[in-house]
Amino acid sequence: SLPKIAIVGRPNVGKSSLLNSLAGSMISIVEATPGVTRDRISILLEYEDIYFELVDTGGYGIFDNRELSSDINSQIDRAVKEADLVVFLVDIREGLTPLDEQIARLLRKNGSNVLLAANKADDAGMFSRAVEFMSLGFGEAVCVSAANNLNKSFLLEKITEKV
Ligand code: GDP
Ligand code: MG
Repeated sequence: SLPKIAIVGRPNVGKSSLLNSLAGSMISIVEATPGVTRDRISILLEYEDIYFELVDTGGYGIFDNRELSSDINSQIDRAVKEADLVVFLVDIREGLTPLDEQIARLLRKNGSNVLLAANKADDAGMFSRAVEFMSLGFGEAVCVSAANNLNKSFLLEKITEKV
C-alpha cells in the first residue's frame, strides 16, 4: 500500500488549507472557525513519481485553547499510529504555543517519524521566525504558505525524502 502521511497540528494552523493547496483543488472543508472539520479527509498525491496518501486530521467537537480535547487527542493518536510520516504543522504567525508542545510530546511518545512545517509564512521575510520552533525537538521547520502557495514543492520534496 501507499505511504501514508498525516498532517497533525492544533486547530486553525491550516491543516485543511495545506491539504487543499497540495491537492490543487478544494477537496477538504476549510472553515474560519477552529475545530469544525468533521471528517478525516485523505487525498492521493504524486510528486516526482512518488505516490502517497495525505491525511488531514481535523479535530471535531469542542476544545479549549489550553488542552487538547479527547476527540482531537484520539484522532491524532489514530492518524499517528497509521502514518509512515507525520507532518507536524505549526503557525508561524502565532508562534509557539503550549498546545504545540503538547502535540510534540504526543508524537515523541509515539516514536513518530516527524517533519515539522511552519504554515502561514506568507512571505519569505517571515521565514526567520521558524527558529522559535526548534525547541519542539524536530529540527528546523520547513516554512510554507498554504494561502500563497509558497514552498509547496519544497515541502513535497522533504516529504518524499522522509517517507
Ligand atoms: P485547520 O483547523 O488546521 O484545518 O486550519 P484551516 O485550514 O481550517 O485554516 C484555519 C485558518 O487559517 C483559515 O482562516 C485559513 O484561511 C487560515 N490559513 C490557512 N493557511 C494559511 C496561510 O498560509 N496563511 C494565512 N495567512 N492564513 C492561512
Ligand atoms: Mg481542518
